[in-house]
Amino acid sequence: MQNATEALRTFTLWIVLTSIFLGAALWLPGWKMAVRSAASSERKLALTLDDGPNPPYTEKFLQLLEHHQIPATFFFIGRNIEFHRASAQKVVDSGMEVGNHSYSHTRLQWKMPSQLAFEIEHTHSLIRSLGYQGPIPFRAPYGQWGGFLGLWLFFRSLPNILYDVPPTPADYFRADPAAIAESSSLRARGGSILLLHDGEGIRIESLEAADRLIRTLKAKGFQWVRLSELLTLR
Ligand SMILES: [Zn+2]
Repeated sequence: MQNATEALRTFTLWIVLTSIFLGAALWLPGWKMAVRSAASSERKLALTLDDGPNPPYTEKFLQLLEHHQIPATFFFIGRNIEFHRASAQKVVDSGMEVGNHSYSHTRLQWKMPSQLAFEIEHTHSLIRSLGYQGPIPFRAPYGQWGGFLGLWLFFRSLPNILYDVPPTPADYFRADPAAIAESSSLRARGGSILLLHDGEGIRIESLEAADRLIRTLKAKGFQWVRLSELLTLR
């Protein structure tokens, strides 16, 4: 009974804090509930790959990036790092950027602080345990933002780095790579953050879409840069 009362008290407090935060967030200068692109007119872009590590596709993406001599950021799921540690290690050793995409890829928006702490902090530790020393951007699963998650991130000054160019149609098994690449290249502009997936399933189409997309946008005069570099552009 005491546990139930305490849970209700925590829940109420959390609701009140969230309401205050959501109101305040409308006026807070410099704080965004989600970052979707860089405010820049320079022709620079960042490629981000979600849901890995996922052998052999993560390795194939690494080869592709090396072939094109461009950087990308791999947003790892913590649980997948545990399953595919060797694959994760290859990404770290390649010098690519690594991001935190939660531990279990669950919907985080209305999770309690203890669950948020586990999902985000445990994944952070797993990435560091690979010897990765660079910045670790965070991206919530399913493009979610705000809610309890927004509050939690705000108090930790940890931005939620989403994207402005998701794959359309979705880059799943049997999707048309040419259609994905064309759609993404038409929507990309200076400062864009593009999303594709190396994780969760068969990614042959995503790989081909990435190859086409990288070449098309290079030909249009865009430069692919690291996400951390893109986010410093103003
Ligand atoms: Zn995801």
